[in-house]
Amino acid sequence: MKFIFLGTGTSHGIPVIGCDCKVCKSSDPHDRRYRCSAYVTTNDSKHILIDCGPEFRLQALENNIREVDAVLLTHSHADHLHGLDDLRIFSTAFSHKVTNPKAIEQMKKPPIPIYTNQNTLKDVKVRFDYVFRTHKQGGGVAKIQLFAPESSFNIGDTQITPIPMMHGSLPVTGWLLSESQNDGSKKSIAYLTDLNYISDSSIKLINEKCGKLVHLVIDGLRVKEHSTHFTILEAMQCAAKIPAEHVWMTHITHENSHEEIIEYIKEQLPNVPGLKNCKSVLPAYDRLEIEI
Ligand SMILES: [Zn+2]
Ligand SMILES: [Zn+2]
Ligand SMILES: [Zn+2]
Repeated sequence: MKFIFLGTGTSHGIPVIGCDCKVCKSSDPHDRRYRCSAYVTTNDSKHILIDCGPEFRLQALENNIREVDAVLLTHSHADHLHGLDDLRIFSTAFSHKVTNPKAIEQMKKPPIPIYTNQNTLKDVKVRFDYVFRTHKQGGGVAKIQLFAPESSFNIGDTQITPIPMMHGSLPVTGWLLSESQNDGSKKSIAYLTDLNYISDSSIKLINEKCGKLVHLVIDGLRVKEHSTHFTILEAMQCAAKIPAEHVWMTHITHENSHEEIIEYIKEQLPNVPGLKNCKSVLPAYDRLEIEI
C-alpha cells in the first residue's frame, strides 16, 4: 500500500491569505501546505482518496492522479469536502460527443462509493444537493453513492475500519486501512484527523484490528491549545496508546515552521515514554509518500 499526503495544512492552508508571518513567507517547501487529504494505492491497485478538500483539483494534477475507486470522508467541514465536484472527471463522461473509448468505458462504471458517517452523509446531501437531483444536460455532476458503514468492510483486498472520534462536539471518522501480507499477518495505516478526543473503545478497536500498525497519521494542530483539535503534545500522548512504528502529524497551522515542529517534538519526546519504541515521530508534509 502506497500512501501520499496530498495536503497537511489546517483549514486556511499555508500560506494563509494575506499573512506575512515567517512561516507563510518561508522558502522551505515543507512550509507550503494544502488542506488535508491523502491518496492511497493498494497492493491490488485500488485507488482510495481520503477527504476531498477545496484544492483537490490541484492536488490531483500535481500528483498525477488518474483514478479514484472510492472515497473515505472524515467529516463535512469545508476543508475536507468542498472539492467533491471535481470527482466528475473520475466518474462521468460528458454526454456530448463521446467517441473516446476510455470515456465510454467510464460512463459504464458504477458511481464512486463514498464512505463516511451518518451526519457527514446528511451534510453532503445538503451541500451538494444538485448531485442528487435530476439535472439539465451540460456540465454534468459527479456520479457518487454514499454509504455510512459502522464496521469494517473491504475495498478490493484492503480492509477498511471506521474509527469513531470527536472533533469538539462533532462526531468524525478516522480510518484504519489494513492489508494482509503473504505470511498471513496484517499491516495497517491509521488516519486520524480533526479530533480532540478518542474513546478507549476506539483505541481498542484500532489495536485489535491493525495487526502491525506501521504508520499512524494524527491531527497535531499546533503547540497552543485548541477547542476542537489535538495539540502536538496531545497527539503524541494519544499516539502513545496506539503503538505505531512511525507517527506523522497533520492539519498543521502557520504558527510554527516544519523545522520548529521537528525540534519541538524532539524536546517533548522524553515526556511521552509510551513513544520510546517508535522509529519516528515527525510532522508530515505535502507530497510525502509512505508505504507498508
Ligand atoms: Zn480540518
Ligand atoms: Zn502566516
Ligand atoms: Zn474539521
